[in-house]
Amino acid sequence: MTTRTPLMAGNWKMNLNHLEAIAHVQKLSFALADKDYDAVEVAVLPPFTDLRSVQTLVDGDKLKIKYGAQDISAQDSGAYTGEISGLMLSKLKCAYVAVGHSERRQYHNETDDVCNAKVKAAFRHGITPILCVGEGLDIRKAGQQVPYTLAQLDGGLKDVPAEQAETIVIAYEPVWAIGTGEVATPADAQEVCGAIRGRLAELYSQELADKVRIQYGGSVKAGNVAAIMAQPDVDGALVGGAALDSDEFVKIVRFRD
Ligand code: PEP
Repeated sequence: MTTRTPLMAGNWKMNLNHLEAIAHVQKLSFALADKDYDAVEVAVLPPFTDLRSVQTLVDGDKLKIKYGAQDISAQDSGAYTGEISGLMLSKLKCAYVAVGHSERRQYHNETDDVCNAKVKAAFRHGITPILCVGEGLDIRKAGQQVPYTLAQLDGGLKDVPAEQAETIVIAYEPVWAIGTGEVATPADAQEVCGAIRGRLAELYSQELADKVRIQYGGSVKAGNVAAIMAQPDVDGALVGGAALDSDEFVKIVRFRD
């Protein structure tokens, strides 16, 4: 049986400027330094404008915390005003990038094809995509959460070779649970995360599917993380609101304590 290191990633969204970012990462690393937290990988996804400061801090102090971006351009360079490329993110040593977060899909019309191009752009530059998938409330009410989410997964992974796909992170984030305080039950999370792993086995192989980390995201907090993490196909959490409170995020990282 493959052991998957849990990945706890904080998506800061459009919060914390570059000075606040430094203070926040310092607090996290200080709070986690007294304990060997190698068993859990910790990552932060700050706004683009914070990445250089976070990189300087992480490099300078040799922190174990990983960092990444919240979005990536499908293009590598050129006349794409406002875009940030994988080339730029890899130069900043970003380990991760979120692709297809529901807020990008909703407010920026990112389709599965766009997400697929972004997944490929990330891999082109050695950055691990965290591909976000998940259904809205209407789909959940219609009981279609599994087929809907698997279609997003298929779209995001189209023509992605196995040697890349085996390193991807999938974040299952039911849209109705993001930022609403409404958390999926552990069984809800397991149902879809298990189906995602099953589809990865169909698309590639069981061996590959067993390696891929699947996160749950949607109102994760210190008080509910342990039950969600106890599910066999949940390998971490993508945390929004609670990641802005360093004490709360540290408690989430230490879900086993
Ligand atoms: C998110 O933004 O990915 C998220 C899960 O947000 P929240 O934890 O606030 O629901």
